[in-house]
Amino acid sequence: MKEEINAHNSILDLIGNTPLIKLKKVTERLEGNFYAKVEAFNPGHSSKDRIALYIIDQAEKKGILSPGDTIIETTSGNTGFSLAMVSIIKGYNCILAVSSKSSKDKIDMLRAMGAKVYVCPAHVSADDERSYYSVAKRLHEETKGSVYINQYFNQLNFDAHYLSTGPEIWEQTNGKITHLVACSGTGGTISGTAKYLKEQNPAIKILGVDAFGSVLKKYHETREFDKDEIYPYRIEGLGKNLIPSVTDFDVIDKFMKVTDEESAHSTRELAKTEGLFVGYTSGAVFQAIKQYADEGEFDVNSNIVAIFPDHGSRYMSKVFSDEWMNEQGFFDSVNQEESQRIEF
Ligand code: PMP
Repeated sequence: MKEEINAHNSILDLIGNTPLIKLKKVTERLEGNFYAKVEAFNPGHSSKDRIALYIIDQAEKKGILSPGDTIIETTSGNTGFSLAMVSIIKGYNCILAVSSKSSKDKIDMLRAMGAKVYVCPAHVSADDERSYYSVAKRLHEETKGSVYINQYFNQLNFDAHYLSTGPEIWEQTNGKITHLVACSGTGGTISGTAKYLKEQNPAIKILGVDAFGSVLKKYHETREFDKDEIYPYRIEGLGKNLIPSVTDFDVIDKFMKVTDEESAHSTRELAKTEGLFVGYTSGAVFQAIKQYADEGEFDVNSNIVAIFPDHGSRYMSKVFSDEWMNEQGFFDSVNQEESQRIEF
C-alpha cells in the first residue's frame, strides 16, 4: 500500500488562513467580545506574506515574470522579508533598496533570506538620485524582467486583502462581526478587508488606527493633506507622511491616533497578560481598542475583530528591550520591579 505523507508542498501553502483568537484577560474591563486575527501565524510572520504572494502570482499570470527574473521593493520591513521569502521559493532574485536608518538586524535578516540589499542614505529627499525610491526606480529600469512592487501605490496590495483577509474574517465570525479595528500604513489591510466586509454587511463599522505624526486621520476627515501633521514617531508600519493611493478612505468610518508610549505598553501587556507575542503595531491596535471603548464605541453585543499584523520577535531591540524603553522615557516600572525581585 502506498504510504501517504502528510506534508505541504512549500511554506507558501501556509500563507493566509490565520487563526482568530478570543481575547480574554486584556479586555476584561471592556464591553463587547474581542477577537484577534493573528497574522504572525503566516510563515513569514506577518500579513505582508499575503500581498507578496498575491502580487507575484498576478505578475506571473500576466506573463510579466518568469523564473530568474527580479523582484524590487523599497522596504526593510515586513514586506521586504515576505518578498524575499516568496522569491526564494519561486526562483526569483529579490532586490531591496532600504534606508540607512534600518537596523543592522533587519538588513541581516533580509540578506539571510537571500535578498540583495542596497543601503541608501536616509537624510536625502525622495527625488534625490541616492534615495531608496530613486535607486529602486533606476534598478527597475535597468533590470530586464523586473517587477517593482511599489506597495503604497499598487492596487494589488488592496486586492490581496479583499480576496483573503476579508473573506476569512467573515467566515470565521459566521458573519457576526460588528466592528473591525486595524492600523493603516499602505492602507491595503484595512481598506481591502473593509471593502469585502461592507459588501457583506454595510453596518459593520471600520475603525482605523493612526499614529501621532501621521497625516492619515486628518486626511480622512478633511480630504486635505496637512503637512503640519507630520513629525517623527517611533512606531514602524503605522501611519504615513503621504497619501497612499492604495487606501480607500471611503470604507473607513473613523480613525483614532495612538501614542508611541501607550502603544509600547499595550504591546507588552498583550504578551504578559494574554501570551500573545505580537509586534508594536498590534499593541497600537489594542491601545486604540481601549480608546474606542472609552468613547463608548462598543456594547455587550459587539463582536470586535482586531488585526494584529506581525510577530513580537521583530522588536527585541525595541519595545521588548527594557533599555530601549528607558531610553525613550517609557520607563516600565512594573517590569523593573519584577526583574529586581528575581535578582534578589
Ligand atoms: N503593521 C506593521 C508592522 C506593518 O509593517 C504594516 C505595513 N506597513 C502595517 C501594520 C500596516 O499595514 P498596511 O500597510 O496594510 O496598512
